[in-house]
Amino acid sequence: MGFQIAIDGPAGAGKSTIAKMVANRLGFTYMDTGAMYRAVGLLFDAQEKFPESSEEIRKVCDAADIDIRFIDGSQRIFLNGKDVSDVIRTEHAGNTASYVSTFPEVRTRLVALQQELSRTCDVVMDGRDIGTVVLPNADLKIFMEADILVRAQRRFDQLAEKGETPDMEQIIKDLEARDHQDRNRAVSPLKQADDAILIDTSDMDREEVTEEILRLYKKVKDGAL
Ligand code: C5P
Repeated sequence: MGFQIAIDGPAGAGKSTIAKMVANRLGFTYMDTGAMYRAVGLLFDAQEKFPESSEEIRKVCDAADIDIRFIDGSQRIFLNGKDVSDVIRTEHAGNTASYVSTFPEVRTRLVALQQELSRTCDVVMDGRDIGTVVLPNADLKIFMEADILVRAQRRFDQLAEKGETPDMEQIIKDLEARDHQDRNRAVSPLKQADDAILIDTSDMDREEVTEEILRLYKKVKDGAL
């Protein structure tokens, strides 16, 4: 088992940006678990009828070939042989992911995949249940928070950068809905693990957050945390 860093928190708190930067600086593998839920969302969207019963959900999940590969240090996700890493990055895919992630059948499948992938390497993994469920024995657990308006602004900037014309009010509404769904679902809700360290990134830039996590990493390595 390598060194494991778990980063959880609500949408837009900066998890993936920071997780990537930390992984880069340490030479660790970055694993984006949200991408896996987004891919399953895509899979469900593509069905003639959106699967609702446990049996239908399990059938669709079992039939799917979900393959994660690390190409030049970045994670690519393949669904039934097709690279879907880019098409899953829409707001719609994020909202669908939030919905499908409430199904225990989906979570069981993806948690097993995440645990398997992280068994043999040093890893920075981000998501909602990493410190609580996927890697309960992680060496360092971070819970990243930020004010909803700051998170919405970051989303807005990201989308604008991609050439889209985002609607701020809609982004806030979507974030609130997603937060509510993620925090209140019955299985593995988003919550801070007892032994996770809270970092509020509202007034921090990405360099500062990265430095803070690297400082904590060093403390763990030195046996001081
Ligand atoms: O992080 P990202 O926005 O890509 O995640 C999309 C959705 O997938 C989240 O809103 C959440 O509902 C779900 N998710 C989850 N558990 C994870 C990662 C993501 O339930 N470990």
